[in-house]
Amino acid sequence: MQTLCGTTLNPRNPTQCDVAPNTVVRIDNDGKIAEVDTKKKTSADHLGGDGCWLIPGFIDAHLHLTQWDRRGIDGLSLFDWLERIVYPAETRFKKPDLAQKLAHDFITGLVANGTTTAAVYGSPFAKATDRAFSVFAERGFRAVHGMMLNDVNCPKELCQQTEKALDESRELAAKWHGAEDGLLQYAFSPRMATCCSEKLMRGAAALADMVKCPIQTHIAESMAEVSAVRDCFPDQLDDVDVFAEMGLLTSRTLLGHGVCLTEPQRRQVAETKTAVVHCPTANLFLESGLMDYVAHRRAGIPIALGSSLAAGYEPFMPKVAVSCLQTAKTIKVHAIPRGSHSVPTPAEAWWLLTKGAADALNLGERIGLLEPGYEADCLVVRPEPWIADLPTEQQTSALLYTLRPDQIEHVLIRGRRVGPEDCAG
Ligand SMILES: [Zn+2]
Repeated sequence: MQTLCGTTLNPRNPTQCDVAPNTVVRIDNDGKIAEVDTKKKTSADHLGGDGCWLIPGFIDAHLHLTQWDRRGIDGLSLFDWLERIVYPAETRFKKPDLAQKLAHDFITGLVANGTTTAAVYGSPFAKATDRAFSVFAERGFRAVHGMMLNDVNCPKELCQQTEKALDESRELAAKWHGAEDGLLQYAFSPRMATCCSEKLMRGAAALADMVKCPIQTHIAESMAEVSAVRDCFPDQLDDVDVFAEMGLLTSRTLLGHGVCLTEPQRRQVAETKTAVVHCPTANLFLESGLMDYVAHRRAGIPIALGSSLAAGYEPFMPKVAVSCLQTAKTIKVHAIPRGSHSVPTPAEAWWLLTKGAADALNLGERIGLLEPGYEADCLVVRPEPWIADLPTEQQTSALLYTLRPDQIEHVLIRGRRVGPEDCAG
């Protein structure tokens, strides 16, 4: 039994983020929250205490393991970024030992930034993907992960044989999907429509359906990508239509970016309950565009946030959420008539970082809240003390904008301390 004390932050839905000071959270030996109480006295061996806040761990729903050490290289647009940064970074993963080392660095980095769940693309190499899963298991990290799939329009050293890539994905899914008592999930991961044959996409969709695995891929990231898809699939209406035809639009699918989705496309995505992962820092970094988050939500699309490392340079998810708000503000100030767009609140941003993302990943019954019965993925943080003196909704705003990674004192995944420094237990 582990006990945490502090002010709890519970982002229950887009409009309600509960703050409860002087709260005691007890975690049972299975890593589940057993009790949340504002009246109980603390025990001597608790984590947190005066000045501390307890918040659900951050969920990063789109990032690339292979690019952890390629953050912040500016000046490229999407296809140049692929050629100059992504492909060479992935080619290194031919060596499984290097993949293992980078996977450790990656987990250390994510945990130091308070991320407790991540949906992660790997390289197109099965051995490297297997090693990365082993590291995630060893470190007790919660991950949705999969081998990158591409069999056309990509460099020779990364280009897979279609059947072999599907076989390897199936084997990896059989080994890792649901492993570590459900902490790990396998994701079939076609890179993007332009890099995948029809056979590969249909095969991935069919296998994912058989095993009920997540699927992750990229869509409508930039206008250049949209027109490249049109060139590759002249018989389909657009990129959403391609994925619909291939069976890739499902309630288990995470579509990265979606910057250029039109209103009819938003409705089509929403009807299939497919989630979109909003990656605002990356969309600006590569100058891909401003995703209209509010329009996506209004259409009914489940949405999570992604750092999109390393086209996103920022691994600290609250800063990605701030970027989501700033993108919405930019759309608002440039709208005609001026101010005709709305902007999500900081409370909604907290929900996107936690419970909202968990819902989009179909994990909303297990993580994302500090409530009895939920698995204890949570952070003990010590923010600037003046925040506690503000009215509640100002507290959630100030905490979002000012929290820093060095204010994270403990990171727990399913009740087990995993960092920031590598504490055992
Ligand atoms: Zn990506």
